[in-house]
Amino acid sequence: MFNEITIIGPGLIGASLGLAIKSNKLCKTIVGIDRSVKNLEDAFRINAIDKRRKIIDGRIQKSSIIFICTPVSTIDKIINEISLYSNKEQVISDVGSVKNIFKKKTLNLNEVKFSLVPGHPIAGTEHSGAINSQRNLFRDKWCILTPLNRNKRSIKMISEIWKNIGMKISIMQPSEHDKIMSMTSHLPHLIAFTIVGTAFNLNIKKKNELINFAAGGFKDFTRIGSSDPKMWTDIFLENKNFLKETLELFLRDIKKFKYFIETNQYDEIFNLLKRTKEIRKSIIKKKI
Ligand code: NAP
Repeated sequence: MFNEITIIGPGLIGASLGLAIKSNKLCKTIVGIDRSVKNLEDAFRINAIDKRRKIIDGRIQKSSIIFICTPVSTIDKIINEISLYSNKEQVISDVGSVKNIFKKKTLNLNEVKFSLVPGHPIAGTEHSGAINSQRNLFRDKWCILTPLNRNKRSIKMISEIWKNIGMKISIMQPSEHDKIMSMTSHLPHLIAFTIVGTAFNLNIKKKNELINFAAGGFKDFTRIGSSDPKMWTDIFLENKNFLKETLELFLRDIKKFKYFIETNQYDEIFNLLKRTKEIRKSIIKKKI
């Protein structure tokens, strides 16, 4: 059991982490630091954190572990703020959805001013904020860690926390993570954000009826497309290179599909759909 852990940004992911750490009795005191008074108050009220702070200062030295749970574009800067007070025994981790985000200065400070073990719990919802947090959000899901060196003690500390709250751990290179996520998460979100706009640009008389008939697949896209705009703008820009590559592949396949339809290629279309159905079956079987 740790004496103190700090969670910077106790919103959806940060407060869910706080709840899970507390319900598994992994820490005596959890400090929440956030610029959002609402999230700080909500996280405190639901007992995801024990102390509320608005700024990072010398008091952070008391925490053995600091989890940064803010949008991806803010993480590197926050680590630099922490480094003004931290010592090399302290472990910093994050939950950001892109992992190749650290500047050279931060990488140089690693192991001198702190030990950095970046992470990404593959769990979440389209909602944000501590108010939507769930203590079991991470149960039976995967957490990817992308350690920057082989500091066994720090890697063990972070993996043990996630394991104790029910996650399975996978360790990989940051670039490998970003490439995989560009396909399994970032592209699907990009498509959802686009398709909803495409529908409303359709030249049809009864636009309102579009909503009435949106019960099928379209509604699923609007759910994904309702995810937080700030968080997703950050993700698309921070994972620009891999996302561009994945998008090119997708556009190539979409063009091929269009060609099959234009040229009435029944077998090609049927086999493509059949293959997708089989992939879906194997995903369900793995209980992801
Ligand atoms: P969230 O609910 O919006 O919580 C983020 C919190 O961080 C907000 O209270 C926000 O305040 C605060 N914040 C932003 N910038 C800050 C700063 N510079 N200093 C202190 N606090 C700051 O977001 P979330 O959905 O939990 O996502 C947090 C992180 O988890 C992101 O990096 C995201 O990529 C990652 N992630 C998300 C999911 C998901 O499904 N949501 C899944 C896995 C990983 P304001 O509201 O004032 O901006």
